[in-house]
Amino acid sequence: MKIFLRFAPEINQEPHISEVILETGAKLNINRASVDAVSGEVVVDVPDEKLNEVIKLFRSRGVEVSILEHPVILDEDECINCGACISVCYVRALSFKDDWSIALDEKRCNQCGACITACPHGALEFS
Ligand code: SF4
Ligand code: SF4
Repeated sequence: MKIFLRFAPEINQEPHISEVILETGAKLNINRASVDAVSGEVVVDVPDEKLNEVIKLFRSRGVEVSILEHPVILDEDECINCGACISVCYVRALSFKDDWSIALDEKRCNQCGACITACPHGALEFS
């Protein structure tokens, strides 16, 4: 399961992710990170069996945590099945179904946002 972490300025200098990995033994996979000297936003893939433990520990450290049930939302009414989003998704989370409508594999998506930028019809957005 993917989670979104937000590090406020007052806690941004601590090595939270490293310490959560060491304390829980969870193999966290960082999918996306935007971090600077002031604050940080990170998307992390967490093994399902460690999810509750990892979330609890991040929150105890003051990190804001949200579960990304749906990393990207596809509006099928707006989609014109042009395929532009498929060509920019480097993790192959998007594909055509047999009927040429768009399939989104949420487990693969890392919320990079490339498909949202590429979509000419505004059919994709972050959740
Ligand atoms: S946000 Fe990125 S990874 Fe997710 S479906 Fe779009 S292009 Fe693929
Ligand atoms: S780029 Fe937008 S309109 Fe084109 S297939 Fe993807 S979601 Fe549909």
